[in-house]
Amino acid sequence: MRIKKLELVGFKSFKDRTVIQFDAGVTGVVGPNGCGKSNIVDALVWVMGEMSAKHLRGSSMEDVIFAGAEGYAPVGMAEVSLTLENDGGPFPVKYLNHSEIMVTRRLHRSGESEYLINKESARLRDIHEIFMDTGAGSKGFSIIEQGAIGKIVTAKPEDRRSLIEEAAGITKFKARKRESVRKLSATESNLVRLQDIIGELKRQLDSLQRQAQRAERYRKIKREAEDIDLWVSSREYLELKEKLETAQRDYEQAQAQEVEASSGLGQQEADLQELRSKALEKEKVIEDFRVQLQENQTKVRDKENAIQELRFEIEQAKRSKEMAGSLYDENKIREQTLLTDFNGVVERLAGIETEERELSTQYKNEKEKYDLKQQRIQQCDDGLSDSRRELLTVTGAE
Ligand code: ATP
Repeated sequence: MRIKKLELVGFKSFKDRTVIQFDAGVTGVVGPNGCGKSNIVDALVWVMGEMSAKHLRGSSMEDVIFAGAEGYAPVGMAEVSLTLENDGGPFPVKYLNHSEIMVTRRLHRSGESEYLINKESARLRDIHEIFMDTGAGSKGFSIIEQGAIGKIVTAKPEDRRSLIEEAAGITKFKARKRESVRKLSATESNLVRLQDIIGELKRQLDSLQRQAQRAERYRKIKREAEDIDLWVSSREYLELKEKLETAQRDYEQAQAQEVEASSGLGQQEADLQELRSKALEKEKVIEDFRVQLQENQTKVRDKENAIQELRFEIEQAKRSKEMAGSLYDENKIREQTLLTDFNGVVERLAGIETEERELSTQYKNEKEKYDLKQQRIQQCDDGLSDSRRELLTVTGAE
């Protein structure tokens, strides 16, 4: 890699665009003191990414922008472009297929700064990488400051060795080493942090494992509880099913009993009705007998009265016979007649009494039959009431 060209615009004393060509061989810049020779080196250091204003011989970075001169106003921006040629020597790997690279740095007075590589926007880091690969760069010793040669000559051998090593291109390896050490240190920090995280994760993992075990136990117990619940439910279902079937059978049986009881009740009601009509008939017959009995009793009483009267008359006649003897025969005859009548009456009375006894016996028999019928009716009534109650219990339970 070789410096081919340096372009400056608005950088320090270079207000106007200035192009410095570096041809083959040694290039020297000659001029009086203060004409701006060192400004060219500053431009080289600056475009390679120098960030220290002090190294650029200023108090702030803004000092690199042309600050004006007699008859010239200050400018708002400084720009330096460095063109590097790929001459077959060390060259940034990324641009090996390029014949040259142009690195540009701009700084505006507003503080805004930008970097470009081959006119495309880039980062400061990209610029550093280009020069790091080549052993050059703002921190390398490829640029030897004014007066630095004296220092090199008088330096201790080990310092000088270090300087020569740096100048020989070890800078990049040192920088890489620094970067590697920094990365290693960062990695070690990360490792420590990772170990902390792993420890924390392990604790969390242990806790999670315990939680998982508890969850597993819970799931197992829950499954068992569900099985038991299912078993109890199925048992209850079977019991309920059995009860339902029994109730269904009872219901059907009750329905059949109801039908049977209904038909039995109809029959019993018909029988009762028949018995009632028969009882009524018997009552009528008994009533007739009773009337007849009363009539006969009246007749008997009449006959008794008549006999009583006749007896009285006989007594009268007897007394009259005693009182009037002449009338005795007449009265005797009359007595005979009356006696005959009396006998006839007595006979009739005997017949009436026999008839009365017969009627009385008949009445008694009919009365017994009537009482029996009444008992039967009562039993039927009781049976009917029982049947009705039974019927009411069966339909109510349904
Ligand atoms: P020497 O050999 O004495 O070191 P030199 O030739 O290297 O001198 P420089 O030191 O490069 O000269 O340049 C200094 C000149 O640059 C001064 O004249 C100074 O005024 C001018 N200069 C430096 N910074 C700026 C700036 N920001 N704007 C305008 N001019 C500047």
